[in-house]
Amino acid sequence: MSRARADVLVVGRIATLAGEAGLGWVEGLAIAAGRVVAAGARSDVEELAGARTRRIQLAPDEAALPGLTDAHLHLAEGGLAEDRLDLTGSESLEAALAAIAGADRRLPGGAWLQGRGWDADRWGGWPTADLLDRAAPGRPAAIWAHDHHALWVSRAALAAAGIHAGIADPPGGVIRRDAAGALTGILHETATRLVTGRIPPVTIDDYERAIAALARRLVALGVVAVHDPGGLSHQGGLGAAFAAYRRLAERGALPVRVHACVREEQLDAAIEAGLRSGDPVGPPGGRLTFGWLKLFADGTLGSRTAALLARVESEPGRSLPPGTERGVWMTPPERLAQLARRAADHGIACQVHAIGDHAVRAALDALEPTVDRTALRPRVEHAQLVDPADVGRFASTGIVASVQPIHLRSDADAARRLWGARAERNGYRWASLVASGATVAFGTDAPVEPIDPWPGLEIAVTRRAASWGRDARPFGPREAVSLADALRAQCCAGPASAGEPDRGRLAPGCRADLVVIPAAALLEPVEVGGGLGTARPRLVLIDGEIAAAA
Ligand SMILES: [Zn+2]
Repeated sequence: MSRARADVLVVGRIATLAGEAGLGWVEGLAIAAGRVVAAGARSDVEELAGARTRRIQLAPDEAALPGLTDAHLHLAEGGLAEDRLDLTGSESLEAALAAIAGADRRLPGGAWLQGRGWDADRWGGWPTADLLDRAAPGRPAAIWAHDHHALWVSRAALAAAGIHAGIADPPGGVIRRDAAGALTGILHETATRLVTGRIPPVTIDDYERAIAALARRLVALGVVAVHDPGGLSHQGGLGAAFAAYRRLAERGALPVRVHACVREEQLDAAIEAGLRSGDPVGPPGGRLTFGWLKLFADGTLGSRTAALLARVESEPGRSLPPGTERGVWMTPPERLAQLARRAADHGIACQVHAIGDHAVRAALDALEPTVDRTALRPRVEHAQLVDPADVGRFASTGIVASVQPIHLRSDADAARRLWGARAERNGYRWASLVASGATVAFGTDAPVEPIDPWPGLEIAVTRRAASWGRDARPFGPREAVSLADALRAQCCAGPASAGEPDRGRLAPGCRADLVVIPAAALLEPVEVGGGLGTARPRLVLIDGEIAAAA
């Protein structure tokens, strides 16, 4: 193998991440048939050059590293969200209404206007159906609040759903009314389904376009592989998103490698189809792999539904529904364990969403009996609060911690407020997990957060975000990881969790997935707003072929 003529030589400053520690710098890489065949001194790889070898000479201010894997990115749903209205940045109701009017003009007549991102707290009050109708007259419209627990709808949407002033609230939901009892156009919790059930389902074609478009943007950011934990919407069978992935894979048209997950309601369909975690879907050697069964142990920090070992701190003026002082189980622990066992019986590995320390413990308890029974490793997603007694369990069992450093940027305030002293002691404890020997994989959780992975790397190392202000103190600074550990979490750990020992490093035998960025990002001390968090790839190779070039 080592005497093979190289198809491509890369010469310059190359971080291989191949060893146990450090960045593993080499001067040259030789690539043949999409894999690294040699990595080392320039003279060693030059020996493999032939007349038809293509040379990539890095500039003195450039460095290469392995392609990035986002271990938690909702690619299919995120792709759809790209085409929809996003009010996250609309500081005022007026700005939002202008954006809605713009979106209305771009849509064909009769089509639903869909979006997300409004916040009654930010706007100082609830928006109304009348305002929506003024901005988008006659349009059926449904726009999610930023936390996805309330839906703002137009009169046409209310009519399509058959909601009138005389109708009663459904169990577990609220149809918001004014003092006179008239509908306001805001639906809470299960009442949202009255309208969402009327929106025509997303077609496979729509998903295909959305996935391909977002995946191309990811490649340009240096992301070569994505683990998609699945969508928010309930889908029958394996779902339209899965079908779209399969079609793209069959055409060889997936821009990135994808591990596609299924949700609990899709487990039977996956078992029936004989799918096992780690199986290729579509042509062998293609880019689509069957991933994990995604389960939810608890809720979220912001909605005060994370399952906790001790109750949340009390907030003046804000009482919790009785019985939820220690959060809410989305799936009770016994059922989590049952589902994980049943999935493992069929070769399907689980990843469990767990935010609070009680949820993390329940997830570890449920996953532990399934360790080594599946080709992919069981994972805990988010693991935002981990009790000291549970930290070592990741390393001792091999269960992977899949975390999203960028969440700390928006969570820091709420975590300190709701979890008190525990927040910085036991929260977002990436360094403790790495030091314990656990496999820690990074992701963004897009579209909850932006798709750009580089700011998350910066936060992992600095424990601070530029948006906190210049003098903000770091959050739990003892949990900061080194640059090398952050890069391993972003490049190597996702593949390690997915049974891919030949990805995420640039060692002989590994796939030649590589990203070229400004060298300062890797050479200078990592600072808030510095070169790492703002890195933009100049070149991206997948399987040794140019996938993006700036
Ligand atoms: Zn997610």
